[in-house]
Amino acid sequence: MKTFTIAALVGLVLGGPAEAGRHVLTAQDARQTFTVGTATAQRGQKAYGVLKVPAGSDAGYDIPVAVLHGARPGPVLAIVSGAHGTEYASIVAVQQLIDLVKPADLSGTLILVPLVNVPSFEKLTPHVNPTDNKSMNRYYPGDPKGTQTDRASYVITKAIVEPCDHLIDLHGGDLDENLRPYSYWTVTGNQKQDAASRAMVLAFGLDHIIISDDRPKDPNASRYLENTATTRGKPSFTAEAGRSGPVVAADVAALVNGSLGTMRHLKMLTGTASPVAKPVWVEKIVSIPADREGVFHASVDRDAHVAKGAKIGFVTDYLNRPLQDVLAPEAGIVMFIRAVPSLKKGDTMVNIGVVSPQAR
Ligand SMILES: [Zn+2]
Repeated sequence: MKTFTIAALVGLVLGGPAEAGRHVLTAQDARQTFTVGTATAQRGQKAYGVLKVPAGSDAGYDIPVAVLHGARPGPVLAIVSGAHGTEYASIVAVQQLIDLVKPADLSGTLILVPLVNVPSFEKLTPHVNPTDNKSMNRYYPGDPKGTQTDRASYVITKAIVEPCDHLIDLHGGDLDENLRPYSYWTVTGNQKQDAASRAMVLAFGLDHIIISDDRPKDPNASRYLENTATTRGKPSFTAEAGRSGPVVAADVAALVNGSLGTMRHLKMLTGTASPVAKPVWVEKIVSIPADREGVFHASVDRDAHVAKGAKIGFVTDYLNRPLQDVLAPEAGIVMFIRAVPSLKKGDTMVNIGVVSPQAR
């Protein structure tokens, strides 16, 4: 009888059909250990390590990673931040999650990567990796023969994206961006996957959601980290909070509590998620790049609701002679506005979110 019971249990764990609404047990769940890079966590434990980005045409470096292998099986969720190493609130949020989530309370596995772009963090360089001047959220799925950003992206694709079931990529206003918090929901056209990622975004709790329906569909040209997971069939999303330098507690809390909300929705933690009931769905982003260098002066704050033609800001030369008024090309919400006077050609002055007339 005992033998039979054990055999029946093994059959259920390894091959039995999952009940509706429960996580589908996979071979991964049978793992007593979970390894990412140099970090190997026993079931119910936490491990620290690094992803090794090997040297190539330029230097290699280490990306820090923590693996929380839950006491019980469940989904594998990766939460990544610091692709832009001066978006500090998102980096501190993932740091906090490393200690806040207890493996004993966890069903599934949590992979936490607080700082992808270590060179940017160390050198206070916004937007890019100063080693090769590339954004670390534009070169996925990466290239083992490319420059440092290409190689790091390749390592992350292999070590983080491929083993996970879901991924959340956290960002925020960079050193020059005064940003209001929001999430992105990527629409792939696969209704089942889109419903799953939509529910994850709503459970995260930010009340403004940008609908991304123009992201690449080719997994070999995925560009963005979230898109690398999404094009591999893994419901995922991006969220942003925090702005232009200071680590504001409310911004960090929004990202920490959002992550916990999505984990509750995924049944990785007990408790019920509190999804946003009526989010503002943003169907389009209108970006205004500078067409010359100068001094930028903002006339409105982040989150301002502006009419078409409203004055957003103005540009002067260094001797304060007016060069240009910056006007809203469409009515919408200021998702972020330039936080500093420094302005060179091509810099983004403002991103305006155009609100969808219907709920999604
Ligand atoms: Zn970013």
